[in-house]
Amino acid sequence: IASHLLAYFFTELNHDQVQKVDHYLYHMRLSDETLLEISKRFHKEIEKGLGATTRPTAAVKMLPTFVRSTPDGTEHGEFLALDLGGTNFHVLWVKVTDNGLQKVEMENQIYAIPEDVMRGSDTQLFDHIAECLDNFMDKLQIKDKKLPLGFTFSFPCHQTKLDESFLVSWTKRFKSSGVEGRDVVPLIRKSIQRRGDFDIDIVAVVNDTVGTMTTCGYDDHNCEIGFIVGTDSNACYMEETHQIDIVEGDEGQMCIDMEWGAFGDDGSLNDIRTEFDQEIDMGSLNLGKQLFEKMISGMYMGELVRFILVKMAKEELLFGGKLSPELLNTGRFETKDISDIEGEKDGIRKAHEVLMRLGMDPTQEDCVTTHRICQIVSTHSASLCTATLAAELQHIKENKGEEQLRPTIGVDGSVYKKHPHFAKHLHKTVWRLVPECYVRFLRSEDGSGKDAAMVTAVAYRLADQHRA
Ligand code: BGC
Ligand code: MG
Repeated sequence: IASHLLAYFFTELNHDQVQKVDHYLYHMRLSDETLLEISKRFHKEIEKGLGATTRPTAAVKMLPTFVRSTPDGTEHGEFLALDLGGTNFHVLWVKVTDNGLQKVEMENQIYAIPEDVMRGSDTQLFDHIAECLDNFMDKLQIKDKKLPLGFTFSFPCHQTKLDESFLVSWTKRFKSSGVEGRDVVPLIRKSIQRRGDFDIDIVAVVNDTVGTMTTCGYDDHNCEIGFIVGTDSNACYMEETHQIDIVEGDEGQMCIDMEWGAFGDDGSLNDIRTEFDQEIDMGSLNLGKQLFEKMISGMYMGELVRFILVKMAKEELLFGGKLSPELLNTGRFETKDISDIEGEKDGIRKAHEVLMRLGMDPTQEDCVTTHRICQIVSTHSASLCTATLAAELQHIKENKGEEQLRPTIGVDGSVYKKHPHFAKHLHKTVWRLVPECYVRFLRSEDGSGKDAAMVTAVAYRLADQHRA
């Protein structure tokens, strides 16, 4: 009976504690009503980004990608691919054979990009890329071939052709000088020419969201949306060409890289952003930019939790007002810690473990609080993604003039794939916000960098048709 009573006592205690946190962070707990309001705002951003006269000042850039098709299953050939801007830099060789059934062979190599190269000069960056390519082709002994290459370049780009792509601005941790505003294709080409011992044919530059949509499109031909929420976040979708003012022609479709990470950069989310979001922005490389991305993506989620912990401790609502040097250190509470804490059946114990690692000596209440903060931060992120996804779906539905829609969304990203409840919460909320869309979520295959190759295969088929 004693242990029974004790358990009851703790449950009650935990319940009270959870309520206190919920109350403290009430502005991060978004109702469906608020989500629909945010969704409406994003819907306006979509239209603004697409319109000829409104787009120059639009925060959400809605960039045409010149990808006019998803896979049709006839793709074939031998390709190279580069994947820059994800967690790792990949160089790939891929062979797609099509004898009724498509078969893919692949070689994949990860190369490091040192921090000083990420933030150095343009030549430093592209010479490094050329050097990695050289090393890779050496190893595979394919230097004598001039292979078509696809470049997954996960940054906002102003494209004028499939193989002409001007970097709008760096995002993530990149800050290489002299690249913004320039076409990256000749930059790679020049670096390769300087080496002079091999040549390639750059066929396409694509955003990673487009890669995700394309890869998922192999398995599901209804896949017309790509969505990423990992270290960073963004989405793309197939748009009717006549809706895109700056692209000539009215026929068919073209994929739009939305660059939704920049939602709010014009102040449109100021009433939703919290003091913690502001703090994140202030400590970032790109002040005032990618504000939506900073509210939701994996690069910042751990930091958000840490800021909340620190603030509550300073107000003596946690840890008896004490703080350790580790907990005051940027990046020490990781997004992975959130996943771990929420993933354990006994998340309270896991919270204890994480806090101990950070030099704290937490009480049971502290651990309950930390666990609850993690839940609120990850739910907040997933909820915000549903608001933008809902607007995107609504827009596509209106485009098609259909009552119902059965789209597939290809998804990638560590937060979506690794957090224990993120995906489930996201799915349920999307279904609730846009009940007239029967959405299927399809995970892209893991970490192989296959995306880049698949896009190249499609691009090559399209370029081929173009040449014909
Ligand atoms: C970039 C996007 C990219 C996304 C996901 C963002 O920071 O601006 O182009 O799709 O990250 O990698
Ligand atoms: Mg990727």
